[in-house]
Amino acid sequence: MKRPAAAVLVLLLAACFGAGLAQRSRSASSMPPTQAPQAASQPKMHSAIDQADLLELAAVRAPADFGEQAMAHMKAITNFGPRHTATMPTPGWTQQLDYICDQLEKSGLVVERDTWTDRKELLTFTNVRAVVKGKHKDRIVLACHHDTKCTQGHADPSRNFHFVGANDGGSGVAFLLAIAPVLLQRQNEATIELLFLDGEESLDWNWNNATRALFGSKRFVQRQRDAELLGKAERIRALVLLDMVARSDLHIQEELYSTTELRRILYSSAIATGHRDRFFRMAESASDDHVPFLDVGIPAVDLIDLKDNPHWHKATDTLENCSAASLQIVGDVVLTMLPAIEAQYFGEDR
Ligand SMILES: [Zn+2]
Repeated sequence: MKRPAAAVLVLLLAACFGAGLAQRSRSASSMPPTQAPQAASQPKMHSAIDQADLLELAAVRAPADFGEQAMAHMKAITNFGPRHTATMPTPGWTQQLDYICDQLEKSGLVVERDTWTDRKELLTFTNVRAVVKGKHKDRIVLACHHDTKCTQGHADPSRNFHFVGANDGGSGVAFLLAIAPVLLQRQNEATIELLFLDGEESLDWNWNNATRALFGSKRFVQRQRDAELLGKAERIRALVLLDMVARSDLHIQEELYSTTELRRILYSSAIATGHRDRFFRMAESASDDHVPFLDVGIPAVDLIDLKDNPHWHKATDTLENCSAASLQIVGDVVLTMLPAIEAQYFGEDR
């Protein structure tokens, strides 16, 4: 996955909450069309939010078996083994893509695969997307990456081991598959797109300024821009990225490239659902699939449990170190975020 960028670590103390929650009314942003990407992809790092300055949100609970449903998907996925196309396609990569499509179709969604070959790397990747229609045609995208870190063929033998990426790769896929039927039952103000991105992981073992990583998100954003220019695509008003959201000892850091307003919505949702201890005890940036979206002006937030995660890119990133309870927490928080995102980004011009 990704090396945290400049080491800005902010310990946020619980004492910050003394002032209580402040009701804020914010107008819907008037969003410009998707911009041209910046030449050098260096996202802006923001300050941590003021944890006393939050929105009052009504908690929305995920179905009681949401975490168990997501764990069942994660079990199926990890049984496929490694799931990447680095060096060559693994059997698990193909099996997982079929599984994702089958599950989405079983939920009643129309699935679209986008397969391409990167000319420089000569590797084939596949993104998968499905759309849950809402009142508004513009979209909120919920995204994950489905590839796992390649842990074979490295010169350094310590980097060659069996890796199933239960949390790093598996958890985002499992979460999106579990939330699909929930969203189909929901009255969606925004159209919601479920997006499974390939090639997030760096081909080099160490993060190489994203030059050999984020293949799927770069591809997706480029296609989105091209389609918008041709008048063939509705706009994306916000991205919520889920990456490593199932560790038993879950802690979602405050990711500092993420759009401030979306971080505020995320943390306010954690407070509303009673999960404050699992969120934002630490703040640090992380390069991830949200960066190409931010580069073209799309507001984005990354729910990531990277900072101090002892299982990251280790053989111990297994089902045993993940839990249904953690996925349930993230389910509550994301479902609580959605109405706030709809109000913030779709409020005035529908
Ligand atoms: Zn990773």
